[in-house]
Amino acid sequence: MATHELLLLKNMSQPGYSGSLADYERAGGYQALKKVLGKIPPGDITEMVKKSGLRGRGGAGFPTGVKWSFIPKDHPGPRYLICNADESEPGTFKDRQLMERDPHQMIEGMIIAAYAIGVRTSYIYIRGEFVLGARVLERALAEAYQAGYLGKDILGTGFALDLYVHRGAGAYICGEETALLESLEGKRGLPRIKPPFPATHGLFQKPTVVNNVETLANVPHIVNRGAEWFASIGNPPKSSGTRVFCMSGHVKRPGNYEVPMGVTFREIIYDIAGGMRGDKPLKAFIPGGASAAFLMPEHLDVKLDFESVAQAGSMLGSGGITVMEEGTCMVWAAENLLHFFNHESCGKCTPCREGSSWLLQILRRIDHGKGKMEDLATLTRLCGNIAGRTVCAFGDAEIAPITSTLQYFRDEYEAHIREQRCPFRSQPAPELISVGR
Ligand code: SF4
Repeated sequence: MATHELLLLKNMSQPGYSGSLADYERAGGYQALKKVLGKIPPGDITEMVKKSGLRGRGGAGFPTGVKWSFIPKDHPGPRYLICNADESEPGTFKDRQLMERDPHQMIEGMIIAAYAIGVRTSYIYIRGEFVLGARVLERALAEAYQAGYLGKDILGTGFALDLYVHRGAGAYICGEETALLESLEGKRGLPRIKPPFPATHGLFQKPTVVNNVETLANVPHIVNRGAEWFASIGNPPKSSGTRVFCMSGHVKRPGNYEVPMGVTFREIIYDIAGGMRGDKPLKAFIPGGASAAFLMPEHLDVKLDFESVAQAGSMLGSGGITVMEEGTCMVWAAENLLHFFNHESCGKCTPCREGSSWLLQILRRIDHGKGKMEDLATLTRLCGNIAGRTVCAFGDAEIAPITSTLQYFRDEYEAHIREQRCPFRSQPAPELISVGR
């Protein structure tokens, strides 16, 4: 595929780039902030981001500028901006690299966003396991305070902002924005029932914007080079800009790759990630993190943009592409994913809490050669009873691996049941492991 310009991974791709403030400034960092503060009215920044077409890079893909514009303009009390750095979707590891290798890019984006929506206090909610990322960010914040990019009277413009790093305890559900807010308030991280939405009743019931790391890292580039420029990259009007895709699984070169939205799965799997490990045929792939339904080799020419992936029956989600080669047991793959979801269900609502345990037990039974044909109908019925009936989107996410493998690999489920063994394993299936929460 044709070469393209890197935006978010550009600095860290330079030899010797350390991510320090000095290196970031040498690469043109904080010029966008200087362009904005005291010179462009906050409302115009929001309009610029709207016009750029930037959409959230965390999973849902909500238009960023529109989200900012939901904050009530006349609200007298505090309002908050939160950077959601709780990246924990299996197969997704891009935010971690953006934070660890170029922290000021995201911090500059946060300061500009805070200015646009009138925030004076802001938090980076980072996954507890990201110890290095938290340390790097804290060091970067200290540098930014020292240089006058944070604190009172930033760059002599009268604008003030305090920014804090808050480490979570490592729960997947705290990546859901309302569970994140609960956790930040010091409570157990359980999703809230919406409405009301965080734009009016967020952190401490005050207007709040929650944006993902990659989303915020795009903001300085939009300010520096203009909304029209950004809107012309990728597959506009609905999928503008680049995305950092995380390639994992059976490819020759796993890793993070930044490409304009709209390249195809074939290009990213074969041209960029080097193709299949051992040159085996591709069997299936997850296009957007563990919450996304599997896609098949016939989907290789689908474009990596929000609409095209949705039309193919899945979602672009968090940008984590996990590739599986011929010979992978898809019942085991679904079981493995369910194991994760069952463990991470917060337990607030019954369909998800009980359903995930039940689904996992059935999948284990089938995988271990003890399934019955009726189990397939039970799996389908259970998934139908979870879909759309839970407090948060986790319920729909946990059934995606099952519904999609049942759609594309029903014959494999049936073979497990008929043969009373896994057709892909040479060894007898191990004994059933009891399922416990
Ligand atoms: Fe918790 Fe699952 Fe209900 Fe979401 S769907 S609130 S994770 S129990």
